[in-house]
Amino acid sequence: MTAEILAVGTELLMGQIANTNAQYLSRRLAELGINVYFHTVVGDNPARLEETLKRALNRSDIVITTGGLGPTKDDLTKETISKTMNRELVLHEDILDGIRNFFAKRHRKMAEINKKQAYLPENSIVIPNPNGTAPGCIIEEGEKTVIMLPGPPKEMQPMFEATVFKYLKQRTGVILVSKMLKIFGIGESDLETRLMDLIESQNNPTIAPYASQGEITVRVTARCSDHNEASALLDPVVSEIKSRLGVLVYSEDGQSLEEVVFNLLKENGLVMATAESCTGGLLSERITDIPGSSEIFERAYITYANRAKVEDLGVSWDTLNKYGAVSHQTAMEMLNGLKQKTGASVGVAITGIAGPGGGTPEKPVGLVFIAAYVKDRFLCRKFELMGNRERVRNDACLHALDMTRRLILGVEQQ
Ligand code: ATP
Ligand code: MG
Repeated sequence: MTAEILAVGTELLMGQIANTNAQYLSRRLAELGINVYFHTVVGDNPARLEETLKRALNRSDIVITTGGLGPTKDDLTKETISKTMNRELVLHEDILDGIRNFFAKRHRKMAEINKKQAYLPENSIVIPNPNGTAPGCIIEEGEKTVIMLPGPPKEMQPMFEATVFKYLKQRTGVILVSKMLKIFGIGESDLETRLMDLIESQNNPTIAPYASQGEITVRVTARCSDHNEASALLDPVVSEIKSRLGVLVYSEDGQSLEEVVFNLLKENGLVMATAESCTGGLLSERITDIPGSSEIFERAYITYANRAKVEDLGVSWDTLNKYGAVSHQTAMEMLNGLKQKTGASVGVAITGIAGPGGGTPEKPVGLVFIAAYVKDRFLCRKFELMGNRERVRNDACLHALDMTRRLILGVEQQ
């Protein structure tokens, strides 16, 4: 089954608004297994709308329009489509009552022009609009279907969810259900090699890995008729991937690494403190971005200069002079100082060279030491990270979060 999304509105063509309705509808149609082959945009012009609709009906099974269902003269979608499909517009008294009520509730009188919204093409299925005055409708014509929805996303989306999604699901009998496995600590090509046979023989479910910002997501998607069938198809494949990748998989439902750490801290009654040098507070920000983080986060030290490391965390000048600020020894002294100062049950210290300047042959840009503890288990690791400053800082945060996760789970050695 193929679909085309036909957005109506001169505002779209003028660049005054972005066509977010097409994006939204495409995403939902993909979940139903309906292939969207075309996004079309046409202005508020009856002749061009008619031409575009005819072309859409020629090449797609389902055409979903948005926009132009309002009460004003330039709202022409319903009138033009009805004319093109040879359907009379008929008055629906119950819809008219609904529109009157909509205004009465807001202590306003219905304008005469709103009456036009109570007319719908004959023999069409009504799509109620609880958040506005314009209902939508579905016209079935042989093998073809036209679905009309209003333009404002706040009206269009609830109507799609309440009526259209169910209607289409019934038509296709198919839904797509995905699991999002999130993976950290392995390169994309390494991962593909480990899953190669599964990826090559995939059919249902499909397996699609993609990498972004240092993390890899493997989306496993089943085409099925209900959620029980989805589990039956997805569970064995997800288990197989997890058994191959082990602790590298940190989430099955698309959660971020910081969300996973947040939940682990919460479940285990732990509280975290951080001491950051080259990341300048980025790690703390990622954690405190999550609502409710006050329960699991105690404080952050941003000790950028050597003096700050000494004064705030008790790092010794001797260590700094002998081994340098970016060293195993300094990272451990930052961590020990953090533990003493805060008494927090979990601590992380990061020191490194984010670049672009500051690197030497012995200590190149990207060299980062991360030390972490959970209660009395300690870990300090050296990383040689690649990429620009932003990438090094981002990856340092991810490694810090992953080390914390592994320490809490007691799997730091794997
Ligand atoms: P109304 O009753 O509000 O006039 P309508 O169905 O006639 O609704 P339009 O007049 O075409 O819709 O658009 C109304 C508003 O809806 C636009 O100003 C815009 O904010 C939003 N809108 C319309 N089309 C889109 C679209 N394709 N993507 C995102 N927003 C849209
Ligand atoms: Mg309008």
